[in-house]
Amino acid sequence: MVTIATLGSHCALQVLKGAKDEGFRTLVVTQKRREKFYRRFKFIDDFLVLDKFADITKPKNIAFLKKRGSIIIPHGTLISEVGIEKVENELDVSIFGNRHILRWEADRELKDRLTREANLRSPKTFSSPDKIDRLVIAKLPGAKGGLGYFLANDEKSYWKNVKELQKKGIIDKKTPIFIQEYVVGVPVYFQYFYSPLKKELEFFGIDRRYETTVDGIGRIPAEHQKGLLPSYIVVGNIPLVLRESLLEEAYQMGERFVKAVEKHVPPGMIGPFCIEGIYNGDAEFVTFEYSARIVAGTNLYIAGSPYFSLIYDEPMSMGRRIAREIKDAKKSLNKLLT
Ligand code: ADP
Repeated sequence: MVTIATLGSHCALQVLKGAKDEGFRTLVVTQKRREKFYRRFKFIDDFLVLDKFADITKPKNIAFLKKRGSIIIPHGTLISEVGIEKVENELDVSIFGNRHILRWEADRELKDRLTREANLRSPKTFSSPDKIDRLVIAKLPGAKGGLGYFLANDEKSYWKNVKELQKKGIIDKKTPIFIQEYVVGVPVYFQYFYSPLKKELEFFGIDRRYETTVDGIGRIPAEHQKGLLPSYIVVGNIPLVLRESLLEEAYQMGERFVKAVEKHVPPGMIGPFCIEGIYNGDAEFVTFEYSARIVAGTNLYIAGSPYFSLIYDEPMSMGRRIAREIKDAKKSLNKLLT
């Protein structure tokens, strides 16, 4: 028996709906307080109810998952709530995708390295605040939706922000802060699926994020904007299609990324990933981030995406595409067994 399992958050609904559409049993690992919410959806067969997600690695929970032949679909919540260390060393359950690449997403230095290896144009980084000579964005560790990120255009404004965050208890003196050139332009998130079975890259869709308060500041007159600190907490995603003339480059970037992963993070890219960046004033794409697993922006396209509609003649979500790959792999295995 194979059961498709995921943590109840982020993109769980489309992942499990997609798995059900492909004929799998489905399981949600949910926190107690969200159990009632997930019970609303009839395509979820099994529930593992925990006080907190980090408890997933307790032996009895691992045994529960294994007994049902679970394959976990990893997403952002697995990384933020269970943590890379536990996922690498204690989560003794099959994961769809390359477990080792999750570290390359969480660690800024590794991330920078892979971005360079994939030959993706990236923003300038600053090793210390006294080197700041342009508008920069200062980032705190962990994927917490840009919480505590701030902008500065010189050393003085940098320290002013740091002091404020320390006062609010968001950071302390030891918190590492990553300083990156702020790219003025429009943010765009490219969603891909790499099929190791077909050895093919599929372009799935594009989104932009709707973030509070940064997307709200433009709604107030400039005189009232002064002194407001933008925050970047994602509350949702907005669909986007690209000028067709820019599409080819999007494919090429994805292909270079897959190649770089193949070289540096065996066994290579498996399944969904996302390249995140900004088209600058010259309409050049500058990558500031990637996610080496499914992103929540794919939730937009549960009934199929503009680009998957060009490949598939049926509604194909990212969740369903993952399940399809697992189903195809099972079929190939079955051909070898008698
Ligand atoms: P997280 O991974 O914590 O969600 P992101 O790295 O996605 O955070 O960034 C949060 C926000 O900051 C997004 O709105 C993104 O567009 C913006 N951002 C990040 N890096 C840059 C950059 N170098 N230039 C301009 N905007 C950026």
